[in-house]
Parts: sequence; structure tokens; C-alpha cells
Amino acid sequence: MRKTIIAGNWKMYKTIKEAIELSNGLKRELFKLDKQGIDVVLCPPFTALSEVAEVLVESDILLGAQDLYWQDEGAFTGEVSAKMLQEAGCTFAIIGHSERRQFFGETNATVNKKIKAALANALTPILCVGETLKEREAKETFDVLEDHLHNGLDGLNKEDVLRMVVAYEPVWAIGTGKTATPEQAQEVHGYIRDLLRKLYDKETALQIRIQYGGSVKPENISALMQQPDIDGALVGGASLQVVSFTDIVKKAAEVIK
Ligand code: PEP
Repeated sequence: MRKTIIAGNWKMYKTIKEAIELSNGLKRELFKLDKQGIDVVLCPPFTALSEVAEVLVESDILLGAQDLYWQDEGAFTGEVSAKMLQEAGCTFAIIGHSERRQFFGETNATVNKKIKAALANALTPILCVGETLKEREAKETFDVLEDHLHNGLDGLNKEDVLRMVVAYEPVWAIGTGKTATPEQAQEVHGYIRDLLRKLYDKETALQIRIQYGGSVKPENISALMQQPDIDGALVGGASLQVVSFTDIVKKAAEVIK
């Protein structure tokens, strides 16, 4: 039985003051819910991690980072290591988000190093994979996913991948208001699980959690969560408001009840 996971990617939004306000609001509202044991993860910007960690003390809400660098320390101006994130209170790290691949030169090779660094520092990597609109229209979706997974997971064994989460995020659905239909998402999630079976084994493929990400909102989470291979959501825009993110968690909890 896979535990549902709903993560909020705050991207480059929220000052420290705003992040404290949002996390306090979420802590208060989510406490009132019967979350059915769902893992809820907040991923604020680096600057607000420590403060949000303080807010989340004595709550079961988890903290994640949006990226990391693979060295523990060194002359790498502007970077933040997995070790530093762990110290700041993180237990998760988003790795290979399409915005990092698109704007900051992230490749499968750097993603792979980051996953290894996360695992070595007790962080659960959320590996983001997904095709662009051009790739989907050219019928290359499955090839792109195979490339992201095969190369992103290079050198990782079964025990490693069992400590990870995969997020399928079609690039054309991120921040665009266009969500993949539940059927489109399920088709790809099923493909990813089958690929994991081929790369590892059936048991591993059945245990690994695969989230969907791309314009997830309170209005579409229930239908997505009803799909057999969708184990939660990675939420961008709708994670920036207490009401919408709480509603997403609430609706996901209703589906798994
Ligand atoms: C994301 O940032 O990973 C994301 C899916 O964003 P949005 O929900 O805004 O599409």
C-alpha cells in the first residue's frame, strides 16, 4: 500500500514573513483535517526553510527544498548542499524540476548526482520527469520519460529507488492551467511504473510513489487521485494559498478513505 504524498512547491514566492504566515495557516487548517495519514510536504524557497521548520515543529507536516548541490561544501558560489538542507530541517528535496532543466541547465547527469547526494544525506528525492508540448505532439513522451528515468537513476540500486518519489510533470501543464486528463496522467504513470519494473523489479515498481504535477487544483485533484497509479500531487500555484492547498489535501484524503 503506497502512502499518498501531496507536496507544495512554492517556487520563488514568499518572503520569510509571508512563508511563516502561510505555513502557520496550513499547520492550523491541516491539523483540523483527518488527513488519512497523507504525507504533506512544504517546499519553500531556501531563505525561508529554517523559519518554516520552526513553525512545523510539533506538526506532522514535512519540509522539503526545491533543489540542492551535490557537494557537501566548497567553492560553489550560490549553491546549497544536501547536508545544509538536512541541518535546516528538510527531509525531502525536489530534484530535476522542469524549470531547472529549462532555465538553469539541469541535465540527467546533474540530476543523478543530486539524487545521490540527497540519499547520502537522508533526504527523500522527488525526481521530476516529464515531456514538453513539442515532445508530446511528436509522440516522444515515452522516450523522454525513459531518458529521464534511465539516466537520472543511473547507478542507483533497488534500495535507493525505494527511498525516492517520482513526480510526473508534463511541462505543458505546469503553471498553464492545462491539466493532463486523469486518463492521460494514468497512462504515463502506468508507463513509469512499468519502466521501473523493467529497470528494477515488480516489487520495487509497486512500492514507489508517483505523484502527478501540473496545474493541480481543488477542482481536479479527486479525479486524478482516483487513478490507480497516481499516488499524490506536486502542486505549484495552488500551494501558495492556505485555502486551496488545504482543499487539495482534504479532497485527496476523501478519495483514499
Ligand atoms: C510545479 O511547480 O511543480 C507545478 C506543477 O506547478 P503548477 O501546479 O502551478 O502547475
